[in-house]
Amino acid sequence: MSDALAIGGLVTAGAIAGALFDHVWIGISLAVAAVLMWHLLNLYRLHRWLTSRRRFGPVSGIGVWSGIFAALHQRQRESQARRQRLLRSVREIREAISAIPAGVLIVDQDQDIQWLNPSAATMLGLDRRDDVGSSLTQTLTDPRVEAWLAGDDATEELLVDAPTDKTKLSLSLIPFSSTQSLLIAQDVTQLHRVEAMRKDFVANVSHELRTPLTVISGYVEAMEIDASDEWQMIIRRMSEQSDRMRAIVEDLLTLSRLDAIGALEDEVVVNVHGVVTSVANEAEALSGGRHTLVWHASSTVVVTGSPSDLRSAFMNLVSNAIRYTPEGRRISFRWYLRDGQATFEVTDDGPGIAAEHIPRLTERFYRVSTDRSRATGGTGLGLAIVKNILVLHDAALEIESEIGSGTTFRAVFPRERTIDGAKDGPELAG
Ligand code: ADP
Repeated sequence: MSDALAIGGLVTAGAIAGALFDHVWIGISLAVAAVLMWHLLNLYRLHRWLTSRRRFGPVSGIGVWSGIFAALHQRQRESQARRQRLLRSVREIREAISAIPAGVLIVDQDQDIQWLNPSAATMLGLDRRDDVGSSLTQTLTDPRVEAWLAGDDATEELLVDAPTDKTKLSLSLIPFSSTQSLLIAQDVTQLHRVEAMRKDFVANVSHELRTPLTVISGYVEAMEIDASDEWQMIIRRMSEQSDRMRAIVEDLLTLSRLDAIGALEDEVVVNVHGVVTSVANEAEALSGGRHTLVWHASSTVVVTGSPSDLRSAFMNLVSNAIRYTPEGRRISFRWYLRDGQATFEVTDDGPGIAAEHIPRLTERFYRVSTDRSRATGGTGLGLAIVKNILVLHDAALEIESEIGSGTTFRAVFPRERTIDGAKDGPELAG
């Protein structure tokens, strides 16, 4: 009997324990589910907060979420403040660029306009909204613009006519990323007008001086014939000075003509061998046997251009070498093909030129030594004429010199103008 009771007691205790265990298990499951739901709810709120376009205030949470929300909210505020600062800076920069009187445009690598300031819109007759995205070459139709924008020499300024009126615009291009450049357009009409007036004035004065100077020279020459010994020297000085003035006037007129033409008028295939031969004959006469002159001219290398201008440029370089090189020294000049480019080169054994003078030699009236230049009949305009003639031929002037070791002047013509093997080619002029 007592055994049966004991077994009955055990069964009851087991049933109670089982029921208790089930309750605890259900309780734990409910608690875990509640926690999970709470986290899911907070994740959902977080997701809505992060992805909503509407601006929510700070999302509050408890426990671990309160820390996450607070940190994220802090980050959001910081990035908003940064964005505001950035926008303010961009606005200020745009306002500053808009206020400057020069036209400023941003162009991409396809030469399309991405942005422009009000001055650029006025200068180029563009609409700041409608014309964004259009090609700059549709507005600036000068054929040089497209090549200039695409080329390596875009850092050089380009002078063009404005599309809407008669203003002259100077364009400069500043690349600031691999795909974008800043184009600055400046109205240089007034500057251009003053420059044109200056050139006209010099040309007119030179022209007006030419006739009186010829008359004076003629009379001075005539006076020299019958002058007494006492007057001979005075009249010779007068003659020298009037010759100098005539040379200056002639050089100024040459420069005015070169300035005025802007581009070569009648281009021909030049017989450069013939030009160099005639330069050599004149050089022999100028040197009068005081120097050893060595020269060579390729008869097959020719260029397209103006024979008389090329002769003038080459003669200026050779006569400089003769005038500045002391007696007994050697002067050589040659016409040849150098890396596929037609080249005229003059090398002398003269005094050389200090490096600081070299960049300025082609300026008008720039002389290293005024006395030496005048004593040898120089006008100070020879290299300016050379430079202008070479520019018209798209050629470059290279100068290499060392004090005491002599100087080399090189006129280097572009490949587009160089023709090699001209014997089988077109008829030559010059
Ligand atoms: P200039 O009439 O005075 O010779 P240029 O324009 O021909 O004027 O030359 C400018 C200056 O360059 C000269 O005054 C001279 O000082 C210098 N120069 C030119 N060629 C030579 C040379 N071959 N050797 C030394 N100096 C030279």
